[in-house]
Amino acid sequence: MSLQELQELERSYAIPTYVRNPVQFVRGSGVNLYDEQGNEYLDFLAGIGVLNVGHCHPRVIKAVTEQAAQLTHVTNLYYTEPAMRLSKALSDSSLGGKVFLCNSGAEANEAAIKLARRAKPGGDIVVLRDGFHGRTYGALSATPQEAKQAPFAPLVPGFITVPKDPAAITAAVTDITAAVLLEPIQGESGVQMISDELLLAARKACDKHGAALIFDEVQTGMGRTGSMWAYEQTPVIPDALTSAKALGGGLPIGALITGARLADVFQPGDHGSTFAGGPVACVAALEAIAICGDPELLRAVVELGERLTGSLAEVPFVASVRGRGLLVGVDLLEGVSAVEIARRALLEQRLVINATGPQTLRFEPPLTVTGQQIDEAVSRLSKLRP
Ligand code: PLP
Repeated sequence: MSLQELQELERSYAIPTYVRNPVQFVRGSGVNLYDEQGNEYLDFLAGIGVLNVGHCHPRVIKAVTEQAAQLTHVTNLYYTEPAMRLSKALSDSSLGGKVFLCNSGAEANEAAIKLARRAKPGGDIVVLRDGFHGRTYGALSATPQEAKQAPFAPLVPGFITVPKDPAAITAAVTDITAAVLLEPIQGESGVQMISDELLLAARKACDKHGAALIFDEVQTGMGRTGSMWAYEQTPVIPDALTSAKALGGGLPIGALITGARLADVFQPGDHGSTFAGGPVACVAALEAIAICGDPELLRAVVELGERLTGSLAEVPFVASVRGRGLLVGVDLLEGVSAVEIARRALLEQRLVINATGPQTLRFEPPLTVTGQQIDEAVSRLSKLRP
């Protein structure tokens, strides 16, 4: 179908929750996407941090194809090997406790919020200003952004928002706090770094008051920042973490992973999801974990991240660059529109990036990107004259 035909279908049949760019992608391979005319694009967004392994990684495709021909779904009333193997792999890769599998980042955070309340009934959930945890009601209630929350009031009660300040966290956490839920780097709000001091204050306050410290690693996990999980590069260990996005190597899957303390809080009947732990998504995730957890790849992510941030800083209309590994945010000079730059990068330079705000661009290429592809992407960006 032509792009125009798709746009007509969208106008008539798609509930308009997204503003789509006028490009149709039909194929992906590694760091490249292709439109219906065969034009090649450099994908430095990776489906918003989903394709850490690159598009259509051969190992993921092989595992998914074989599994799809064998068994696609049975529900959690029965055993399947992929779900149990994945639970072990996730636990072994991180906090050593137990795992609840689900289908998305919002669902993983819903599970985390319910777990914290199950552990401390009626307790408050403390969240950070500018955080983003998803669009379902619990996750939305943990996402203190006026434009996203206001049209959907009333929200779930018991969420307390604090500024990104260690003293504020210390003051907000009390004996009735069930959890502090935060992103170790805030991705959707423009790759905002969270200081070690803030994380240490959160850890200390949670320990003092018997609250759970939960990291939302939906965007920062799976090698994105140069370690399998971002918490590994901080001075704290959370009590639980959530994962999704890149976990499935391109397929939808999410997970709540606990440490020992929270491993046995949920009891049969407390939580569930029909599709959770489906064998096709689980075999994809097992491959993605093996690929993203490779120490050589993780070392490369650190080096490539430095190359990307270093060269982005040289682009004439860039004001500042921040990030860790291959999660990079760029603030543009006063008066330069990030939305316009992202649009022109796509249409004029075939470079896929996105704007997280009026003046901020985000770069999240697949972790398999090469130094040469980074240089090419930055060179394409530099050709745009705002
Ligand atoms: N948490 C974080 C940190 C995210 O970045 C996102 C999505 O961008 C979510 C949760 C929600 O994930 P999903 O869109 O899979 O529900």
